[in-house]
Amino acid sequence: EERIISAKMASEDEMVEFSLRPRYLSEYIGQSRAKENLKVYIEAAKMRGEALDHVLLYGPPGLGKTTLSHIIANELGVSIRTTSGPAIERPGDLAAILTNLQAHDLLFIDEIHRLNRSVEEVLYPAMEDFALDIMIGKGPSARSVRLDLPPFTLVGATTRAGSLSSPLRDRFGVVSRLEYYTIEELSFIVQRAADLLQVRILEEGAVEIASRARGTPRVANRLLKRVRDFVQVQGDGIITGEAARYALNRIQVDKLGLDHVDHRLLMSIIEKFRGGPVGLDTLAATIGEEPNTVEDVYEPYLMQIGFLQRTPRGRMITLRCCEHFGVEWPK
Ligand code: ADP
Repeated sequence: EERIISAKMASEDEMVEFSLRPRYLSEYIGQSRAKENLKVYIEAAKMRGEALDHVLLYGPPGLGKTTLSHIIANELGVSIRTTSGPAIERPGDLAAILTNLQAHDLLFIDEIHRLNRSVEEVLYPAMEDFALDIMIGKGPSARSVRLDLPPFTLVGATTRAGSLSSPLRDRFGVVSRLEYYTIEELSFIVQRAADLLQVRILEEGAVEIASRARGTPRVANRLLKRVRDFVQVQGDGIITGEAARYALNRIQVDKLGLDHVDHRLLMSIIEKFRGGPVGLDTLAATIGEEPNTVEDVYEPYLMQIGFLQRTPRGRMITLRCCEHFGVEWPK
């Protein structure tokens, strides 16, 4: 089931995301802590004429990890090669990528926590010594040969820093956590995107979209596109506060950015499990999603707004959540 508030990348996002993606640090809104530090590291690497240290970016999907990696490459003035953990199946696939890099290039690996072990082992010496150990021959005459690689920068992105093996994690010199955006930051992002999409928007309209975007630029941009459809077909083409509210209510995204699936998820904990605790697998089954998706994509926001708690015995609802839905605390 496609959800408008999903922070996961959908195929319809691809074209728009490409055109809306900021290209330099100065256009990248928010994440000031990560941004300010990166600015220094980039500057320093350029001054020394070295490759930037390896960077690990982590945080929920749609917060700008891929965007930031492209920006880092732009700021460094180097080429970027992008791939993902699941796409690199065998050690040879990674070796092919690594040997094709130019000096100081950036290699972006999305979902780096999903690399398999044998591939990861090739990555260790590559990250640490810019070297590739390959086996030549088979059986007793097999020997290992070390090949030099050009110095490069690995930027890894993950939604779960916790599932990275510690030897991999330790090889990143820079580890940056991306945070949910504030409504003000998202409102800037929406206004910038509206400009690029050539749709007129009032500040009130941008704030309305921003406040329902779950702290996530990808969701904000997607809501903007849907609201644009409504104002173009049923309105005068201008996104006012009123027009945005109307459209967002029509697509059933509530004031906190929750949709019918969130409602079902939260209400099922209240009604079927007396507020919890309930296990992740059981919960995921109630909305027909993968447990991993629930854990990485949906729960972080529900915890951020204080509606859901993770306890050792399972997930529990909060009083604030009951108040939002106007139901009694089941305890
Ligand atoms: P992630 O890799 O974390 O899933 P992306 O980098 O693909 O997220 O970001 C999703 C979209 O959100 C991008 O295409 C971009 O348009 C927008 N975006 C993300 N971060 C920012 C930001 N800081 N400023 C402006 N737009 C942003």
